[in-house]
Amino acid sequence: MKSRLFLLWTTLVLAIATYGEKRDIHILATNDMHASISNFPQLAAIVDSLRAIDPALLVFSAGDNRTGDPLNDKYVIPAYPIVAMMNIVGFNASALGNHEFDSGSLPRIIGMSGFRYLCANIIADDSTGVKTVPYQVFDVGGLKVGVVGAIQVGPKGIPASHPDNLRGIRFVQAEDVLGQYEWMSRECDATILLSHLGYETDTLMAERFPWIDAIIGGHTHKQLQADEPRHGPSGVLVTQCKNSLSRVAYITLTVDGGHVVDKRVEYISVKDFGRKNPVVEALLDNVCNDPKFSRVIARAETSFGVKEELGCLMCDAYIDAFGTDFALANPGGVRLGNLPAGDITVLDALKLDPFDNQTVIMTLTGRQLYDLVLSICQRRMYSFPYVGGMLCELTADKDDPKMIGSVKLMTPDGKPLKKNRRYRLATNNYVSSTNKVEGIERETKDMLTNDLLIQYLEKQQTVSYKGVRRLSYKK
Ligand SMILES: [Zn+2]
Repeated sequence: MKSRLFLLWTTLVLAIATYGEKRDIHILATNDMHASISNFPQLAAIVDSLRAIDPALLVFSAGDNRTGDPLNDKYVIPAYPIVAMMNIVGFNASALGNHEFDSGSLPRIIGMSGFRYLCANIIADDSTGVKTVPYQVFDVGGLKVGVVGAIQVGPKGIPASHPDNLRGIRFVQAEDVLGQYEWMSRECDATILLSHLGYETDTLMAERFPWIDAIIGGHTHKQLQADEPRHGPSGVLVTQCKNSLSRVAYITLTVDGGHVVDKRVEYISVKDFGRKNPVVEALLDNVCNDPKFSRVIARAETSFGVKEELGCLMCDAYIDAFGTDFALANPGGVRLGNLPAGDITVLDALKLDPFDNQTVIMTLTGRQLYDLVLSICQRRMYSFPYVGGMLCELTADKDDPKMIGSVKLMTPDGKPLKKNRRYRLATNNYVSSTNKVEGIERETKDMLTNDLLIQYLEKQQTVSYKGVRRLSYKK
C-alpha cells in the first residue's frame, strides 16, 4: 500500500512539474575554445558552482575545441589534454568545428571523448573513423531538450580545413538538412541548434527555421551581448562568446506546458573567476611541465612588435632550409602577433606556427608568382602574404581602398622580378592546396614548416627583426 501511495505521489509531482508550473533548463555553452587549456581550471570551477544550484545543468561546446596551444595540439596523444578536461567537466555534447579536422586526429579525439559530436550536415564514409550523430535528445529531470548540430561549409563545399584532412567526407549546406529536424520542436520541450556556422548564418537559420528556440553559435569569434535582439519571426536566441574561453554563455530556457516561454543569456568571464577546480589544475600543471616544450632554442635581441616581423622570420626559415629564391607565409598561418625580447622556446615557435603544415617547393614564373600572391589574399589589401627574398609594393584600388589595385614584386635591391623567368619558392601545403594557379610545379617535402622554424632558430642562436618590413602600402 505504502509503495502504491508513493508511486501515486511521485506521478502526481511529476505531472505537476511537467504541466503545472514553469521550469528552467540551464545550459553552459562555450565556442572556439581553441585548446585554451590554461583557462580550464576556472571553467571547471564555474561548472561546479552552477551544478551546485542545478545538478541537471547541460554543458555544450559549439566546436573548434582544439588548435591554438601546442601543449594540447602536440601532446604525445594530440588534443588529449583538452578532451580529458572536457571529460572531467562533464560536457554533454560538442558541435564539430572546422578545426576538429586538423592534423587528421578527429577519429581518435571522438574515441577519447565522453560525449558525442553532433553534426547533421556531414556524410562520412565508415573508413574515415569519423563517427558523429546528427542530433541528441537530453532528458533534464523529465524535460526533453533536443539538440541538432551543424558545421559551416564554404563555397568550395567543404569547411575551412586542409582538404587532405577531409578525404572520404562529404558535406551539405546546413540549411538543406535542418528542416528534417522540425519534429524536435513538437516532441521536445526545448530545441537547440548547436552551430559552428558563424554568426551571419546563425541569424539566417533563425529566419528560416523559427521552430528553433536557441542557437548556440561559434566560428566567427563574435562576442554577443546579453541584450542582443532576438532573431527571426519567432525570436530565436542566438549566443556566441568570442574565443579561447574568455567568456562562457549561461543560458536559461523557461519551459511551460512543453514550450519555451522565456529565454535569456548571461555571459560569464572565465579568467576573472576567483576559483579553480583542483583536479583540472593538477592535470594542467602536468601538461605544462613537459621539458620538450620549454627548451630554449634561440634568443630574440629585440622584441617582435608586429605580425609582419614574425612572418618574415618564418619565410627566412623556409628559404634557409631549401635555398629557394623566395618564400611565402599566409597571414592566417602566422598565429602570434608579437613576441618579447629574450629566450625563444620550442613552445614559442609552435605557438607561432601550430598547424603541422608540410613544406612545398614551387617552381614558377614571375607572372605565376604575381597571380599566386593575388589569389592568396583574394586581392584584399591587408591580407597579403608575408614574404622572404623579395619586396612587395601594394597600391590600393582607387574605387575601393580595401582592395589591391596593383602590386610590384621586387628583389631586395628594388629591381622588378622578371615575368618570364623561373624562380623557386618555399611555402606550406595549405597555400599550395588552396590556390590553384595553373602551371606551377609543386613538390611536397616531408618536412613540417614548424620544424623548419625550430631548426632555423637553433642555427641562428640570436635573431632581431625589429623594423623589418617587406610589404609597403600606397594609397
Ligand atoms: Zn571555426
